[in-house]
Amino acid sequence: MSPCQGCHSGCCRAFAVPVTGADLIQMEHQLRQPMESFIHRWEDPNGMIACETAPHFYFEDQPGLPYTICLKPEVSATFRNVTRCHFLVEQPPTPDRPLGTAQCGIYGQRPLVCRIFPTKLSETGMLAELHGIPEHGRPSDPHPAYGLCSTPWNVADVEPVAAVQDLVLIHFEMKFFRQVAASWNRRPQSWSVWPDFLRLVYQNRVIPETAAQECEEPLPAILKFSEATRSRAA
Ligand code: SF4
Ligand code: SF4
Repeated sequence: MSPCQGCHSGCCRAFAVPVTGADLIQMEHQLRQPMESFIHRWEDPNGMIACETAPHFYFEDQPGLPYTICLKPEVSATFRNVTRCHFLVEQPPTPDRPLGTAQCGIYGQRPLVCRIFPTKLSETGMLAELHGIPEHGRPSDPHPAYGLCSTPWNVADVEPVAAVQDLVLIHFEMKFFRQVAASWNRRPQSWSVWPDFLRLVYQNRVIPETAAQECEEPLPAILKFSEATRSRAA
């Protein structure tokens, strides 16, 4: 049985959830909800959220401040002053389960960062490594709802093929998303237009062979987007 069975899901409360652009495009398609309803930009001046993996985006309203794109946090319905992921479905505490239980409301469509927890890719890039999990997820807030994994994880709890595939995929998609960020950050615009920018980038991810030969800019959709928003503003 997975350690997550019957857990109060401290991981989905304690941590920001950084996503890839590919996660967002797939989630809005599968959930039939615009990404504007479930994304959040977290200020990340110390890189604690990006962890040298997720890209930083910059925006017109705060030109010097790096942001990491994450799932939206909400206030818990069960615990005062506790946050949770927008998609976490909570069940109230019982005598047996004083922290209640909680499940992901979009388990089949959850983003890659949720799928890979608690593993990382080995140095060879061929194996999944189970990494250590601290007892508590929020050093600055001792609330027990932010406690993690009361049952320890074993390697047998991780599905071996899917785990490695998801790790390879997040590595690849984060690399592409960092390239998207580098292009956006050359001409930062407002947060309100960022979702449309992202949709345009991913709509243009498949190109004819002839266009690939002529293409000098790695992400030409970004140039098109910048021109379109500038001419709308003029
Ligand atoms: S998407 Fe699901 S698994 Fe990921 S943090 Fe939110 S509730 Fe948890
Ligand atoms: S805190 Fe640990 S056991 Fe609980 S849901 Fe998260 S990963 Fe699973």
